[in-house]
Amino acid sequence: MRRMKTAVVAATMAFGVVAAFAGAAQAQVTAFEGARLVVGDGRVIENATLVMDGNKIVQAGAAASVQVPAGATRVNVTGKTIMPAIIDTHVHLSPIRDRLIRDLKLRGYYGISAALSLGLDNYELLDIRNQVIPGAARFFSAGRGITMPEPGRITAPHWITTEADGRKAVQELIEKKVDIIKIWVDTRDGKYAKLTPDLYGPIIEEAHKHGMRVTAHLFDLSDAKGLIRANVDAFAHGVRDRDIDDEFVAMFKAKPNLILGPNLPERGVKVDISWLKEGLPAADYEKMEKDNVDKPREQAFHAIQARNLKRLNAEGVRIVLGTDGNRAWGPHDEMEDMVLAGMTPMQVIVAATRNGAEFLRMADAGTLEAGKSADFIVLDANPLDDIKNSRRISMVYLRGAKVDRSQPVR
Ligand SMILES: [Zn+2]
Repeated sequence: MRRMKTAVVAATMAFGVVAAFAGAAQAQVTAFEGARLVVGDGRVIENATLVMDGNKIVQAGAAASVQVPAGATRVNVTGKTIMPAIIDTHVHLSPIRDRLIRDLKLRGYYGISAALSLGLDNYELLDIRNQVIPGAARFFSAGRGITMPEPGRITAPHWITTEADGRKAVQELIEKKVDIIKIWVDTRDGKYAKLTPDLYGPIIEEAHKHGMRVTAHLFDLSDAKGLIRANVDAFAHGVRDRDIDDEFVAMFKAKPNLILGPNLPERGVKVDISWLKEGLPAADYEKMEKDNVDKPREQAFHAIQARNLKRLNAEGVRIVLGTDGNRAWGPHDEMEDMVLAGMTPMQVIVAATRNGAEFLRMADAGTLEAGKSADFIVLDANPLDDIKNSRRISMVYLRGAKVDRSQPVR
């Protein structure tokens, strides 16, 4: 008798739990109807429906081809454009835990769903990569990058001068399970010795032996060629000292998996930054406005890199978006710069979404397709008409949850 009673109670409780879950699941299905979908892979679908269930996209396509499940919440987004959340493949975030988490939330605010921190991170913060932080971009990190000694600069990277130390650094990074290895090949205006082929060659070889990829900060065309000869996997910058030549283009094209993060510098022209006013502390905004002037030297520096990007894009190399530094909104600036350099808005969006996700090996991100994480931006205007429309954000969803954009992230 006693045993039976217990069983009945258990069954009743189980039923209650199941019913509660079923109710919750149904309430979690949301259909966004009537928008233009910029899928992220080069396709655009007018009058589309996107259905998400929990944290996943379960259907995305032309309205006529999508079955909205009964009981789904319907959101009318007619006239708006939905694009995948943006992936920033080159950042340097704060070295302190709570500041870094704030950096990631700030990125969520601007529709950035992931950020790869390139080489200035100590290992204590790498656990943040495995955390799901509501409203925040996902964190990827190269841990401590590798460079020749740079006294006076940040000491987080490995400073190496021998092949043996280079290989040892790589082994440590692999043990720490970093996402990629970062190397610097740059004299910083003649102030330091830079990694030479006899040092970065073994670093790249050692990394590849363990299935790890290497991305390089570089400046000079000659180093870019050396790095390609050494089988580097990605460039975290474009070539900056001169216009690239036919030899370099041929070398680049001979490596179909080589990735370019053009990471354009400031254009050096006064621009309208008023769209940032709402999301930034007043003092930060004032500082930016003060610095917002024409700078002829920067214009020339920018122009080299813009021409180099234009040429490599025309040659069909694989491009991702990276911004460097710690500006959460930076990808929106960078996308405009990439278009001004000669890419189409569609090419830039593909670079900033699908290509970035593939580069970071995020199987569930980068496009608006069934099975992907529900990471997307709802825009008030079409970024294919004007890439600056990526800033006209109506809503951001990360992992199926609407990001609170009612006030700036503090
Ligand atoms: Zn950098």
